[in-house]
Amino acid sequence: MTLTNWAGNTTFHAKEVHHPTSLDELRRLVAGSSSVRALGSGHSFNHVADTAGDLVVLDRMPELVEIDSAAAKVRVGARTTYARLAPLLHQAGFALANMASLPHISVAGSVATGTHGSGVTQPGLAAAVSSIDLVTADGSALTLSRGDADFAGAVVSLGALGVVTSLTLDLVPAFELRQYVREGLTQDALADFEAIMASGYSVSLFTDFRDTRVWLKREDELTSPDWYGTSPADGPPATRCPRCRPTPAPASSASPAPGTTGCRTSAPTPRPAARATSCSRSCCCPGSTRSRRCASCSRSASASARPCRSPRSARSPPTTCG
Ligand SMILES: Cc1cc2nc3c(=O)[nH]c(=O)nc-3n(C[C@H](O)[C@H](O)[C@H](O)COP(=O)(O)OP(=O)(O)OC[C@H]3O[C@@H](n4cnc5c(N)ncnc54)[C@H](O)[C@@H]3O)c2cc1C
Repeated sequence: MTLTNWAGNTTFHAKEVHHPTSLDELRRLVAGSSSVRALGSGHSFNHVADTAGDLVVLDRMPELVEIDSAAAKVRVGARTTYARLAPLLHQAGFALANMASLPHISVAGSVATGTHGSGVTQPGLAAAVSSIDLVTADGSALTLSRGDADFAGAVVSLGALGVVTSLTLDLVPAFELRQYVREGLTQDALADFEAIMASGYSVSLFTDFRDTRVWLKREDELTSPDWYGTSPADGPPATRCPRCRPTPAPASSASPAPGTTGCRTSAPTPRPAARATSCSRSCCCPGSTRSRRCASCSRSASASARPCRSPRSARSPPTTCG
């Protein structure tokens, strides 16, 4: 079987792909191999997760999501995805301070690569890690915690130090965000680039060099109707999506209800990297995004967005585009 990344443009060369089901099995495997690499969701667009030796995928390890409410921390299995984690945290009244754009990538892979979200006040995802558990080259289990001498270098390790089996992440109280999609940001308006990028918890700009669209996620309401000369994006959800815009919107996409567009139907659950998996576009339609994140959020995000009742940690579209 040929193992490729999501786009099919990175082919893995491992002589064998392993799916250990327990820590003991993983430790034996690592100890007995001359060259091991861990694979997360296989999303990376280069060979950072590749090896000519043994590739280890932790998708058959027991699921682990342990929330410590008193300490405001969660311990997760390395292969846990943000799509899996965010709703569980929200149910418990918590959120992660930040998320990447992609819901289906693994916590371990994201942290190992220094994955970030967007928003000038938001640190990268690795900043939330307070402890990691890993299996090192001789098969021994090692725990490193914030404050330990080797901790910082071990968190964003590109998978070079061993196989991370679990991570403990700092939590913040759950909170709400409003998502606005604005269009018509001119080159002139971009003179205020720094102020624009500081206008929300998360600000993303998408340009085709004729029009620049803005995804603006903030906790409070946007009061300026012509914010930096822009107007609310209109049209059915699929046409509001900056990256989906070239795709004609199916008639059914006028409804922001979950599952009505290709953007929404791709499951947020991780798919095996062995097929051209994950998603070629990390975006989705604002309306569908909100619907997907929160069953109560069915209104279009194009106008006056109401708060999504999902955690801020789910601010990024937890959907994939087909
Ligand atoms: C279209 C697209 C959009 C993206 N958008 C963003 C974005 O908005 N923000 C952003 O910051 N990044 C983004 N990325 C990059 C993405 O976040 C990284 O590729 C991330 O590493 C993917 O996580 P993964 O689980 O697929 O890791 P993989 O690609 O599977 O692995 C990445 C690295 O982590 C290591 N690793 C994985 N699991 C373990 C483990 N258990 N133990 C030890 N090492 C491990 C691997 O060995 C490898 O070195 C994007 C990438 C693409 C292609």
